[in-house]
Amino acid sequence: MRIKQIVLASRPKGLPALTDFRTEEVTLPDLKEGEVLLKPLYYSVDPYMRGRMNEGKSYIPPFEVNAPIESGAIATIAESKDKNLQPGDVVIAASSRPLLPWATGIIRKGSDVRKTDSEIPPTYYLGLLGMPGLTAYFGLMDIGKPKTGETVVVSGAAGAVGIVVGQIAKLQGCRVVGIAGGAEKVKMLTDKFNFDVAIDYKGNPDISKAIAAACPNGVDIYFDNVGGEISDAVVNQINFHGRIPLCGQIALYNSTETPVGPRWQPTLLTRSVLLQGFVIGNYASRFQEGIGQLAGWVKAGKLKYTETIEEGFDHLPDALLGLFSGRNNGKMIVKV
Ligand code: NDP
Repeated sequence: MRIKQIVLASRPKGLPALTDFRTEEVTLPDLKEGEVLLKPLYYSVDPYMRGRMNEGKSYIPPFEVNAPIESGAIATIAESKDKNLQPGDVVIAASSRPLLPWATGIIRKGSDVRKTDSEIPPTYYLGLLGMPGLTAYFGLMDIGKPKTGETVVVSGAAGAVGIVVGQIAKLQGCRVVGIAGGAEKVKMLTDKFNFDVAIDYKGNPDISKAIAAACPNGVDIYFDNVGGEISDAVVNQINFHGRIPLCGQIALYNSTETPVGPRWQPTLLTRSVLLQGFVIGNYASRFQEGIGQLAGWVKAGKLKYTETIEEGFDHLPDALLGLFSGRNNGKMIVKV
């Protein structure tokens, strides 16, 4: 069977271009006993994938040049030689091997996928109840340790992780300030997601002043999704015994030079601030706890979500690049 796959054509310097990807046709072998043929339905595109396009050691190996890109995905079974799986079943890759290649047909062992719950919208497995939702939950609750009445600031607030962080912080009784790019996004945060204040960093000439005005009692927790100048401005307002879950640095992912900025250490030292980086894989043994808590809030109507669903397998690279210009509201998904 002939299928299409999208491979990494070259390692980008700075912001990736569509020419860093290539679509090619390959032939899949016949299914063996115990295997299934998957047809992807939805793919997740995520900022961390930019790091995998670079060479070099990190917490996850780089993509290989001329090999398929891979990401989180939901698929349907097209053919099955596994007695536990039937054509039409909707599945996600098992957590031991959680990513699927960007390909229009994929062969996996049946034991390497698990069925999704038909009562949960399938795309939630890639967002709210998947890696981004868990990142928000554990980063905020385990590192941020929010207390009633505290002020929580989250950057990248209108994205897959940020909108969950803000809502969980509200559920803990905090005052929540979100930072995002564009008037439409900040309106969405206050109107739909119950943020107390939202700051448009793109439309605001003085982000430091805006943060100070939005946080009259200072900042107790800064959930950092973006890094760069936004984070420098928030850290200026951090309170004594503040906590900074260091989740992402998307403002720097395409930097070609080592970024230079103010040194935070004196502020962290004199205000006894906890700064802790984390990757969500650290919490793998507690994922069921996180999913249970998030699903409980969803069922109780306390946690809402939004997704930007772009269409077409060939559109995957462009959707990934769209994350760096902020084209998404909430989770960026590609419907195949
Ligand atoms: P998002 O859904 O938030 O998408 C990325 C968003 O980042 C864009 O929509 C854009 O929003 C914003 N952005 C892009 N470029 C810049 C920039 N130069 N400066 C400021 N904001 C920018 O992604 P996720 O919610 O999935 O991820 C958010 C962060 O969390 C990322 O840094 C990601 O790498 C990190 N992450 C970390 C994990 C971990 O285990 N530590 C796990 C998952 C995510 P806007 O329009 O507001 O600019």
